[in-house]
This record gives sequence, C-alpha cells and structure tokens, in this order.
Amino acid sequence: MTDLESSNNLIQRYHSVKQDIENACSDTDRTPDSVALLAVSKKHPAASIKTLYENGQRAFGENYVQEGTDKVSVLSQLDIQWHFIGPIQSNKTRLVAENFHWVHTIDRLKIAKRLNDQRPHDQAPLNVLIQINISEQASKSGIHLNELDNLAQSINEMEHLNLRGLMCIPEEQSLASLALEFKAMQHAYQQLQNQYPQVDTLSMGMSADLPCAIECGSTMVRIGTAIFGKRI
Ligand SMILES: *Cc1c(COP(=O)(O)O)cnc(C)c1O
Repeated sequence: MTDLESSNNLIQRYHSVKQDIENACSDTDRTPDSVALLAVSKKHPAASIKTLYENGQRAFGENYVQEGTDKVSVLSQLDIQWHFIGPIQSNKTRLVAENFHWVHTIDRLKIAKRLNDQRPHDQAPLNVLIQINISEQASKSGIHLNELDNLAQSINEMEHLNLRGLMCIPEEQSLASLALEFKAMQHAYQQLQNQYPQVDTLSMGMSADLPCAIECGSTMVRIGTAIFGKRI
C-alpha cells in the first residue's frame, strides 16, 4: 500500500466510526455532539495522528507515558487535547502531569496527590476521571463503587486537579450483563454530578460495545483499532 492509500483508508475508517457514533446517538434520541470521540492512538505513529487532526479530530488517547510524551513533543504545534488512559505508576506521574490535559485512570489517592503536586502551576488544572472497576475483577485497575465518595471528595479538594467524571473498562461478557454494568456506571455518574456540578464526562464504551454505552449515557467513547487498524 502506498502512503496515500493508507492515509485514505485511515480517513475512511475515521468517518465510518463517526457515523457509527451518530447512528447510535440517533437510535437513542441523543444529539450527536453529546458523545465525544477519543481516538486511541497508542502504538500508532505521529503521522497518523496528524492526518486525523487535519480531518478535524482533536482528542487523542495514549496508554504509555514515554510514547505519549514523545508524541506530545513531536506534535506540539498542533492544538491537540491529550488524554492519558493507561495505568499510572507513581514514578511516571510527573511526565503525565506535565504533558497531558486529561487522565482517565485515577484509582488511588497517592497518584492523585502526586499529579496535583506535579501539575505545573502555569497550566490549567489537570482534568481527571476516576476509574471504576465495574466488573469487580480481581487484580484489575479501578476502585469499587463503594470507595467513590471518599476518593471524589479528596480529589475535589485538590487545587491543580479538576474532577470531571468517571471511566470504566468492563470485562468481556454478554451484552445483557454489560448493560447492567453500564447502567450502574450511569447511576454513579449522575450522583457524582449532583454533588459536583463541574462533572460532565463519562468515559465508557469501546468498538464492540459502542451502542450499548451510548444508550447508557456515555459522553466519551474510546476507539483505537477501528480507526487506526491493528497495532504493530
Ligand atoms: C487500547 C484502549 C482502547 C482502544 O482499544 P481498541 O480495541 O483498539 O479500540 C480504549 N480504552 C483503553 C483504556 C485502552 O487501553
């Protein structure tokens, strides 16, 4: 494949994912702009990000601190909104605090505190989502819902973090049980919104479960492979 062909394919897949989101929105009487698309670009080159940027995409998600930081630096001329969506180790918080606009994977007070301390004061507060282990899988990232009140309250008091909502990565399961978990997320999200009016983001849904997530109130879907193709 030539570079031009592969870039045309990328653009085509991008528009087709956007169309899927629009269709899911209209099926559930939601306006298309009520669901943001986060393009998950991990393991894909900066050139592909640039191509999508030129076609209107602004929000990109990265999982690995060093890889993400490298791309932030290479593409620093572009007005991209960078989301960190991978697990965070405490020795990597500084790079995340300095280079990203959003973090989706907060599940420990210690990490939140470090990000708050390390966020440069001349930058806007770091937007954060609390990750919920909604399928209650052993040894998976995320807190249980009964821990949410405490963590949300602590984060809300941090000057350099802005609590924006919740995120989850459910385990693979039947659509029926997935829908129950998404509905539990929606409920927790609405309660959080009642307490903290700035909360406006429910990061939920990937390629396979997009319609179900949108029906259950997701405001941001995270899509990688369906846009960029297989990761190398
Ligand atoms: C990789 C990743 C995605 C995208 O997954 P695809 O299967 O490539 O669409 C979404 N969310 C998170 C947290 C991820 O790590």
